[in-house]
Amino acid sequence: MFNFFRQNQKYEGNPTVLEARDLPSIAKYMKSDACKRVFIMNGAGISTSSGIPDFRSPDTGLYANLARLRLPYPEAVFEITFFRNNPKPFYMLAKELYPGNFRPTPAHSFLKVLDNHKLLTKCFTQNIDTLERRAGLSDDKIVEAHGSYASQRCIDCKRPYDAAKLKEKLFKEEVAHCENCKGLIKPDIVFFGESLPPLFHRSIPSLKSADLLIVMGTSLVVQPFASLVDLVPEDCPRLLINLEHVGDFGSRPNDVVHLGKCDDGVRELCRLLGWEEELEREWEKTKDTLERVSEDAPVSEKDKKKAEKEARAAKFREEVDKSEAELAEKETLKDEVDELTKEVEAGLAISDKDDSKANAPVPGDHPEPHSVKTEDSGEDPKGPDGKL
Ligand SMILES: [Zn+2]
Repeated sequence: MFNFFRQNQKYEGNPTVLEARDLPSIAKYMKSDACKRVFIMNGAGISTSSGIPDFRSPDTGLYANLARLRLPYPEAVFEITFFRNNPKPFYMLAKELYPGNFRPTPAHSFLKVLDNHKLLTKCFTQNIDTLERRAGLSDDKIVEAHGSYASQRCIDCKRPYDAAKLKEKLFKEEVAHCENCKGLIKPDIVFFGESLPPLFHRSIPSLKSADLLIVMGTSLVVQPFASLVDLVPEDCPRLLINLEHVGDFGSRPNDVVHLGKCDDGVRELCRLLGWEEELEREWEKTKDTLERVSEDAPVSEKDKKKAEKEARAAKFREEVDKSEAELAEKETLKDEVDELTKEVEAGLAISDKDDSKANAPVPGDHPEPHSVKTEDSGEDPKGPDGKL
């Protein structure tokens, strides 16, 4: 309620901590001793440039893509009651969204750079894609508010399930069942109607100690996540990097709104901090993450890919061999034609001397070209001692 009233209230006075409400002032503040504990809140917007569909954009978003799964309504895919009756749509979606298929974005690498500079206290993420981990952040820095693919368990007896096994099932488009009670297995992604992870609740009070809050790529509509922005101290600078203005940003004295793409925003901030090269270096490292992930893909999938690759290579070799054979055949033919031509020419030269051109012999009249060669030279290919 409080949030609702503040939403349209713009703070008109001077900033109390920052020099100005802009990105350069944030950078200056970050370099000062006053800024030691940075908190991050991020949403789907920081992952969109990696190719992961935004859950909420109407056209390109995930919900729009769900139409083909023939759900009664898109949100059903994340509803625990629907999942119990029909887990297949979720499994299809989970396969499509599997983390290994995507590379972290520069915005994710920015989190790692912050951590390198010992500034990052906690990153609260709404995303389930685990790209924060893949960008190099350690477990203790991440609070996955809506859970993630990082662990999985039975929805009935809650017994944890082996990650590699689930991955294999997902890629084979099979539903995994608990080995203990035959219940359905699901990654620890929070569904509608499920409570948020205990770690989320435990981590909330730490926001009171924030020196800076950076909010990136979120629409701030999903509660209770959205309300976290209000929990930092009143004077704590808050920076929003987002395509559009969201939440109550602008209502506090040290609020900075930087509209645009997350990747562009963090690049600009890093440039102001002199971290530009470090950011690109960290991002470059994430290239390998993707390769490493595809390497530890389930064995069956890996073998399948390997077999396909080998089949393609074999086919290619076959084609090359075939065309080489054809070429060799053509070469032989060419040699024969050349030889024939020579003989014809030789014949012509003779007949030129002896006779008129009109009586020039046609090739067929000539002795067979091969007969000129010694069919059997009588030479023994073996040496005198009978060895080659
Ligand atoms: Zn079970």
